[in-house]
Amino acid sequence: MAMCQYRNINDECGVFGIYGVEDAVSLTYYGLHALQHRGQEGCGIVSVDENAEFHRIKGKGLVTEVFKGDELQTMQGKMAIGHVLYTAAEGNRMENVQPLFFHHNSGDFAIANNGKLVNASELKAYLEKRGSLFQSSSDSEILAHLIKKDFRGNCPRIEAILDALNMMEGAFTFLVMTSRRIYACRDKHGLHPLAIGKLGDGYVVASETCAFDTVGAEYIRDVEPGEVITIDHHGLRSNHYSQFKHHHMCSMEYIYLARPDSDIEGCNVHAYRKESGKLLFKEAPADADIVVGVPDSSLSAAMGYAEASGLPYEMGLIKNKYIGRTFIQPTQALREKGVRMKLSAVRTIVKGKRVVLVDDSIVRGTTSRRIVTMLKEAGATEVHVRIASPTMTEPCFYGVDTTSYDELISARLSVPEVCKAIGADSLAFLSEESLYKAGNRQELCTACFTGHYPTALYHNSAICKKCKK
Ligand code: SF4
Repeated sequence: MAMCQYRNINDECGVFGIYGVEDAVSLTYYGLHALQHRGQEGCGIVSVDENAEFHRIKGKGLVTEVFKGDELQTMQGKMAIGHVLYTAAEGNRMENVQPLFFHHNSGDFAIANNGKLVNASELKAYLEKRGSLFQSSSDSEILAHLIKKDFRGNCPRIEAILDALNMMEGAFTFLVMTSRRIYACRDKHGLHPLAIGKLGDGYVVASETCAFDTVGAEYIRDVEPGEVITIDHHGLRSNHYSQFKHHHMCSMEYIYLARPDSDIEGCNVHAYRKESGKLLFKEAPADADIVVGVPDSSLSAAMGYAEASGLPYEMGLIKNKYIGRTFIQPTQALREKGVRMKLSAVRTIVKGKRVVLVDDSIVRGTTSRRIVTMLKEAGATEVHVRIASPTMTEPCFYGVDTTSYDELISARLSVPEVCKAIGADSLAFLSEESLYKAGNRQELCTACFTGHYPTALYHNSAICKKCKK
């Protein structure tokens, strides 16, 4: 998994929940650890003990930094939810570190979310007019206020949740935990993954199935778009809040975001990437000696390209795994330095060779330029860049930080111009059609490549900027 800070695409968040299992808190810790690639800025766990008391630990930093020492031992219970946070989605404030916890006369509850609402401002304005006060900029708080807004004492909680979800537009995978159950909710467009697994007599729910393997759970099924699954002592119960349903899974999950050992809607991420590499070779063969992938997220596609081309797959780039997170700061100058600290070319492998460099995407182009330069400085005679996704020309409004129009190099330059800007000898991108083919999919979100957003879009400064162009 590519550590996001040097690739210009930043992961979203990750959620994990567990019901009816001893050591629920420790297992949530392991589950969050498996989802760490989805967010490194903060994390938290909320558990419910046998007396229906809620316990929470959260903080800024990695899972291993926030949950230190014996703190977790103080959290009891057979039920918990957890969250890893990526900040662009929610803002780098402690109040936004999830799960969020709410007191209410109908009973306390906690919420964690992965995704981003596109009508958050409208919903906030509506709720504030009705007297709601917000403490964070998190979409989870909007859900909490919507759930609470019309709550009548005799109304089942699930009805309030279904009503609230019906008002929300955009991408979300909410986990709502009360003292007795967990509700796992997915948006009707199916933009981000959420899967259910079985563990002993209990259940787990997670953004990615790699977390199931870590805790020893068995995958059962995905939460369907527009579905809310209630997990409690009755087992699993399903409700649907919308008849409008699509499987517009974020294609970046397959291309870059998810771990290769995760399966998303029945398709393994490594297998998807490998197939995309094969299709990339068919569409854009290169006259070269070796194939090199950019670690880690492009290695599967590079393997596919090598297999289809018959060229040797070589480890021409090495990633330094031990670089501290704190070295990588989100400024352009430091980002560029970060590339050099994170990646090195293997001189003896690439010297005198014509290299096919396979990468998953080009965002700003600065990383690609650095890597091409690095390979040439190490003695590569030619570098042919092949990208296992189409040109990225539009921003994402669904929680994946693919930066703004101004910074997207392919929004400003043609493919030959990008090729020149990054110093490559040739450059080609995968077609949109092959994104579907690689996973044998009928539907996907490809909006950052095509501008075809699967949801309505509300007022947004990035959209306004495009109009002014
Ligand atoms: S716009 Fe791009 S990054 Fe965002 S959800 Fe769609 S495919 Fe994923």
